[in-house]
This record gives sequence, C-alpha cells and structure tokens, in this order.
Amino acid sequence: MSSNGFTTTILHSDRRGGVEHGGVHKPLHPSSEYAYADSRELAAVFQGKPGFTYARQGTPTTAALESKVTQMEGGVNSVSFATGMAALAATFFTLLKQGDHLISSQYIFGNTNSLLGTLSDLGVAVTLVDATDIEQVKAARRPETRMVFTESIANPGTQIADLKGIGQWCREQGLVYVLDSTLSTPWLCRGIDVGASLVVNSLSKYTGGHGNALGGAVTDTGLYDWSAYPNIAEPYRKGNPTSWGLTQIKKKGLRDMGATLSSDAAHRIAVGAETLALRMEKASANAMALASYLEGHALVNRVQYPGLASHAQHNRAADLFGGKHFGALLAVELSDDLDVFEFLNRLRVLVLATHLGDTRTLVLPVAHTIYYEMGPERRALMGIADNLLRISVGIEDTADLIQDFEQALAGK
Ligand SMILES: *Cc1c(COP(=O)(O)O)cnc(C)c1O
Repeated sequence: MSSNGFTTTILHSDRRGGVEHGGVHKPLHPSSEYAYADSRELAAVFQGKPGFTYARQGTPTTAALESKVTQMEGGVNSVSFATGMAALAATFFTLLKQGDHLISSQYIFGNTNSLLGTLSDLGVAVTLVDATDIEQVKAARRPETRMVFTESIANPGTQIADLKGIGQWCREQGLVYVLDSTLSTPWLCRGIDVGASLVVNSLSKYTGGHGNALGGAVTDTGLYDWSAYPNIAEPYRKGNPTSWGLTQIKKKGLRDMGATLSSDAAHRIAVGAETLALRMEKASANAMALASYLEGHALVNRVQYPGLASHAQHNRAADLFGGKHFGALLAVELSDDLDVFEFLNRLRVLVLATHLGDTRTLVLPVAHTIYYEMGPERRALMGIADNLLRISVGIEDTADLIQDFEQALAGK
C-alpha cells in the first residue's frame, strides 16, 4: 500500500494509475478482444508482456480492481475471478496435483467444504483439523503435504484459527499458506501480516458490499518462494520467482476453468470497495451491540462472536484485529423453546437471505439451508447445531436491529 491510509488509497487508485480524460474511475471496458497494430507486440503479450488479449484472461477494468485489492492486502499482485468459489477452485486446482496433501481447517464455509470433497475425489488428500490449535495442524503433516488452508474468521461459527502460528510453521516447513480473508477483509487483518502466501477474498461479500455483484480474488503476498514449489509448470518458471504462483493461477485458472470476472461486475465492486472501511466499522459496531444484547437473552443458548469475552479465541481476535473491531458475522444458537422457523418469520427488518457482507442485515438457519446437503455428522464436526442462525450484520441504525430481535424473541 502507498503511504496513504486504507480508504485514501482505494479512492485514488484509478486516478493514480492514469485514467483517460481525467476520469476518476477506470472506465468499463466491454471489449472481448484487444487488437495490436504490430504483430510482434501481439506475440509478446501472449508470451508474458503485460497487456490484454482476450477478455477471459482479464480486461483493463478487472485489472484496475485487481490493483485495488493488491493495495488493500499490501501484496505484490492479484487476479480476479467471477466468484469467490472460482478464486478458491482456481487456487486449489492449479497448484495441487494427484497425490498431494492439503491440510485444512475443519471450520470452513460449506461450499468450500464441498470443493475440498471434489478435490479429494480427484486424488488430492485432504485432512480437516481444528486449526484453532496449531498442534493439530502440525500433527497432520505428511511428506506430501503442500498447502495449509484456513479462513481468517470461520463462516459461520466465527472460530479463529491460529493464523500467526500457522504462518510461522508454514514458513519453516516451506508450505503454501492459503488464507480465505473474506470475513475479516484486509481492513481488519491482512494476510501478509500473519505470514500467508496467498489471500483469497470473495469480493461478493464486504468488498463489493451492496449485494449487486459477484466476484473473487487471489492475492500473492510475496512471502512465498515459488522456486521451491514443485507444481509450477515450465512456462511460468520465468522471471522473479515471487510471481510464479499467481501467474500459474491466473493463466491456467482463467483459461482452464473460464470463471472470469466481467468488467461490469468489476466496476460495481470497485465502487463498493471505496466504502469498505466505513461499512466495516459501522457493521462491526452493530454486530458488537447485537451480540451483547443477544448473549444476555433467556431465549438464546449461545452467541459466537469474536468480540465477546466469552468467545474461545477472543484474545487472539483482539491481537489480530487491533482490539476495537471484530467483524460483522454472528452465529446465534436459539433456545430449544423457540421454533426457529416461527422466530425467523416474525423478523421485520432482518432479511431472510443467503448472503453476507451486504449493507442490509441478513439471517439464515444454516443447518436447514447451506449445510443441509452435508448431513448431521459433518455438521456436528463443524459445530453446526439445528437451531443455529448465521447473522450477517449490516449498517442499519443499531436500535432498529435490536428492536427487531426484541419483538421477534418476545413472540406473536
Ligand atoms: C461466500 C464465501 C466464499 C465464496 O464466495 P462467492 O463469491 O459467494 O463464491 C468463500 N469463502 C467464504 C468464507 C465465504 O463467506
């Protein structure tokens, strides 16, 4: 990042990159193909010179967003994808091969859990561990281990893995450390500060922030020496080894899977990103207020929120996130005296929808929706109870959120 702060940097990023006609936004580039007057120049771009060829591999608009994400993360380079899942899939499928081993936190987003299942069907061994405990991560090490994966704040249980401990151990072991930073966002915690090699962000969530565009990104922090990684293909073992991993994710990921971010979505996400810090600050404050209110309520069994002193990794979260803000996601287990569906139907302000990181507060009964397919055993391993609600807190006026819970808990 430049010497400017988080928000200043994002606001002025396009302008500083040089925008035609003095525009303050990078324009929307809908062109599918990019033409060259000189055939040698065209060939050079295909052979690695920076430039654009076919929009599946990126456009000036997606590149401008990638530059913003790189600056937010303090990394060296980023590549964008159509969704966060596409970013994760590209990372795993382009860097891992049959016979390799991946250690993953067991507390992860349900769709990522599904992706790891697909990966293991294709011959990559996956071990799920409780990554809040570094000893469990270490104990899973095999000779063929290549990569460790965790989320910064786990969706939906809010567990916080030993992010720094994993970073240090991966560095000692020469392992690639992939951090899904979607729930913390780089505003709360940057992957580079915990030793991550690659940071994945679902841009559909807080970065875009308005529920009107999907996207994902992978950022290389520059900490990993890719010359030590066996799975980099020959054409990408060129130039500074710091860039090899991301080059392979970008080249192969966009080409082989084709889940490219559109210029239109990139533009919307870039505009949303301008207010990321402001939204996170308000949503985190709302989440803290709501968590404190719900924790004391007789009809609530348990509230999992990293800002509460009762959270198992509260001190770690305070250390990682600076002690003031703890993100905007709550996991709330209702009392068995409440019918979860009846309760949800009484809410008037909260939106019953499966998304998070929106400006609006969204709520979802996870065992019956996004975790339904995986069955009760796997849900138990991940700490998902039948009456668990995931609440993605938005930026509404705080009193309105508390009042909505008050009336819905009171019933009738
Ligand atoms: C939503 C989410 C994803 C996937 O992002 P999409 O853009 O919805 O594909 C990945 N990881 C986490 C932690 C998420 O919450």
